Amino acid sequence: MNDFNHAPCGFVTISKRGMFIDVNETFLDLVKYSREELHEKHIESIMNIANKFLFHSHFYPFLQLYGVVEEVYLSLKSGTGEDIPVLLNGKCVERDGTEVIDCVFVKMHKRIHYEQEIRSIKKRVEEAYEAKDEALKALKLLHIENERKQKELVALNAELERLAATDDLTGLKNRRYFLEQLEECISLFSKAGTPFSLLILDVDHFKKVNDTWGHLAGDQILRELAKIMESEAGKADTVARYGGEEFIIILPAKDEVAAKRKAEKLRSAIEHATWEVCSITVSIGVSTFMAGDTNVSILSKADRALYASKANGRNKATHAMELDDSRLNM
Ligand code: GH3
Ligand code: MG
Ligand code: MG
Repeated sequence: MNDFNHAPCGFVTISKRGMFIDVNETFLDLVKYSREELHEKHIESIMNIANKFLFHSHFYPFLQLYGVVEEVYLSLKSGTGEDIPVLLNGKCVERDGTEVIDCVFVKMHKRIHYEQEIRSIKKRVEEAYEAKDEALKALKLLHIENERKQKELVALNAELERLAATDDLTGLKNRRYFLEQLEECISLFSKAGTPFSLLILDVDHFKKVNDTWGHLAGDQILRELAKIMESEAGKADTVARYGGEEFIIILPAKDEVAAKRKAEKLRSAIEHATWEVCSITVSIGVSTFMAGDTNVSILSKADRALYASKANGRNKATHAMELDDSRLNM
């Protein structure tokens, strides 16, 4: 063994029963035992239970079968209590007429260290993937929640827009909405020359209705009137409450004649309707937008026509074109 005392691996010769016969210095350095301490000791005395089992189940049977064993990974227990990972090759040889087993031990410290590092990196990668999956799930939920909230917001905005354009008492469009629609009709007229007309309705002697039947009954009449106007109006028409007991209807694409006819029909329908509290009539002023008109002038023409209807005894519909020129230019 002297030649191999300081070889770069541990050399050990054990008997067939596993007793140490000879060891080199490198092995003693590796396992931190003195030669005397290993004397007449069994090789398994420097292994833990798991490694003893491996030694029995793998090393010995292979040796018996093939006379040689290669690359057995073991962990030896050093004299100072540390685990020393080693790679073991063994071979049965006959020396001086006795069968012995020569063993070579190579320290596997680095390899085990690398394996541990690889395992730990793999674990961290798996954890990162798990965390990524969790984050993606959370992100997906956030997306769903966000979409739901956005839909709610769109619905809420639509509702707010509807409320902002609606008259509380009658449910008709309000003055603000009417003025917007008027601007649109005017811009359509200037772009495409599409004519349009509007009606202003004012309830006749409404003050008397309130005085006689009370304000609540008056409100009820305004609601009923709104229903009649809506049922008489076409799909494209805008029916709005202009304020108090005055209403306005925009008639898109209707010229003077058609608008006057419509106003007359509406006036008559209101006069002959069945009312819950008491019958009412309305006076109507009609005007049709013409080149040179503005949002103010068309309203003022309709207003003057309404005034004429009132002056002519109420329950009348008058088109601004029926007024003489001097009154039109007022
Ligand atoms: P005219 O035929 O000249 O239009 O007479 P009128 O009595 O209708 O006109 P006036 O302007 O003198 O009176 C309008 C009345 O409408 C007075 C007001 O109390 C009533 N009025 C306005 N808004 C409402 C409302 O929302 N509900 C009720 N019940 N009455 C209203
Ligand atoms: Mg009035
Ligand atoms: Mg009135």
